[in-house]
Amino acid sequence: MPSDASDSGLTPLALKLRRAIAERGPIPLHDYMAACLYDPEHGYYRKRNPLGRGGDFITAPEISQVFGELIGLWAAQVWVQMGQPRHVRLIELGPGRGTLMADALRAARVVPGFLQGTAVHLVESSEMLRETQKATLARSSVSVQWHDDLTQVPEGPAIVIANEFLDCLPVRQFVFDGAAKAWRERVVTFSDGDFRLARSAHVAQPPSKAVSHGAPQDGDILEHCPGIAPLVATFAARSADAPLAALAIDYGYTKPAFGETLQAVRHHKFAGLFDAPGQTDLTAHVDFALLAHVAQDAGFDVFGPLTMGEWLLRLGVEARANQLLARASAEEARAIAQSIARLVDPAQMGTLFKVLSWTRGISDPPPPFGGQGWKE
Ligand code: SAH
Repeated sequence: MPSDASDSGLTPLALKLRRAIAERGPIPLHDYMAACLYDPEHGYYRKRNPLGRGGDFITAPEISQVFGELIGLWAAQVWVQMGQPRHVRLIELGPGRGTLMADALRAARVVPGFLQGTAVHLVESSEMLRETQKATLARSSVSVQWHDDLTQVPEGPAIVIANEFLDCLPVRQFVFDGAAKAWRERVVTFSDGDFRLARSAHVAQPPSKAVSHGAPQDGDILEHCPGIAPLVATFAARSADAPLAALAIDYGYTKPAFGETLQAVRHHKFAGLFDAPGQTDLTAHVDFALLAHVAQDAGFDVFGPLTMGEWLLRLGVEARANQLLARASAEEARAIAQSIARLVDPAQMGTLFKVLSWTRGISDPPPPFGGQGWKE
């Protein structure tokens, strides 16, 4: 599209969204976030390489190999608890650079029989990251297939891993209008050369599950992720005839609360919601209470949430770190200790990140939750 002087500084997606708003009026914030992440031409998770030093953020498996290794051992243990089915699908949602899966498969080799019947299924929206994942997993002995969507993964016993995937699902936001005693959805407008947040002129009915927060005050914000329920429904459908265990790790909160968590990150720094649309990562904290609720309603046994620090300690992160430290030079040892501390320390990722598991068709709770089922 030809650009004129007034377009300078706007990304191609910003121009597209500006045009859409001019033609059809303000768009819900949810649709803005969805376009920023998934627009087929310009979306962040279509075109960008988000991870690592040259990208925008770094994740647990990129910080320490121990993270993926412990998940590999977890998956093998869950397979044993399933009664060692001859075939199992190890599914990862949003596998990034493939690092977690590579570390998991390497560690899981110690459990006899597990990998022989395992097929890996990666659900990934980014062509660019699929190429990276192919390279990372090139030497793996296990078959790997890629899918756009969880619904495309063939049936059968399944172990599903999702690290920093649910935070990508677009959220809706509602603002309480004290005068009208009603909620209005947050929308995005364009005026005076920039995008702006506004309240919809129409009142809205927020999803009923979300309203158990207490009485709202004027200006209170309610955030809701409409993608959670259909995702859990897909898990439920595939576990009707075969066992399933899922593990979600993400930054998030465990009690319903008013407030907004939608955030923008670019080049390892916080950015504005409207900075460089399509070239900035947008995420929202995961509402683990909603996830647990929906999973329980769908008939799953739900475990956790634990903080990531607690979960790693219970899984034996220290013992594994000590094995690595025993073989490390002084410099390597410092780096290993730092990376483990980054994952476990409450002041770093240890508390902000939470871990939830839900299972069906498995007699015992998955490690390391013990009998700790989710309670409202
Ligand atoms: N789990 C990885 C990457 C986290 S970043 C890690 O921990 O390092 C989010 C990942 O999810 C990326 O691989 C991104 O391309 C993918 N993704 C985001 N939204 C998706 C969607 N709706 N469907 C499939 N993959 C998605």
